Amino acid sequence: MQVEYPKPSWSQKFLVLDLLEGLKTTFRELFKPKVTVRYPEERNEPTDRFRGMFKFSYDRCIACKLCAVACPIDIIYIDVHDDMIEEGGKKKKVKVLDRYDIDVKRCMFCALCEEACPTKPKSIWLTTKTYELATYDRNDLYFNMQELEYWEDRPRYTGLPEEDEKPRLDETRLLK
Ligand code: SF4
Ligand code: SF4
Repeated sequence: MQVEYPKPSWSQKFLVLDLLEGLKTTFRELFKPKVTVRYPEERNEPTDRFRGMFKFSYDRCIACKLCAVACPIDIIYIDVHDDMIEEGGKKKKVKVLDRYDIDVKRCMFCALCEEACPTKPKSIWLTTKTYELATYDRNDLYFNMQELEYWEDRPRYTGLPEEDEKPRLDETRLLK
């Protein structure tokens, strides 16, 4: 079925009113405060609840594996073995963590692992406000126990400014 459109009038053809209508929006937006930032020279500070890169604490972890069970896509790999220690003259059985790996490239940052962790404070958490671990190699995003604890020491992407050079965004520029 062929659709018949109404013929444009003479004024619509020659006065380009549609173009002016579009430009009206352009000029209106021109004078509004900008919300974009010139990353990486400028950056927004993530909110306190922002779920970013993990942090892991070996000392706090009790090797219970609850985080691995809670992970919906099974990307937390934990190996433990039992050991005996002496405490107050008595022998006590403890779990020792041999492996704690996360395949971060597959993570969807749901934080169910953090929620499941029973230690206080948590042994695994995502509120580090870090999202700058970009890499050219996917394999770099597989983190073992040591890397999850000390990823600040990893070589950084060369385009990023140093920590003390980072300008913070003027919050008055953000839309309320
Ligand atoms: S945040 Fe990542 S590792 Fe943790 S439960 Fe969700 S998908 Fe799994
Ligand atoms: S990180 Fe938390 S939930 Fe996971 S094994 Fe350690 S103590 Fe258990």
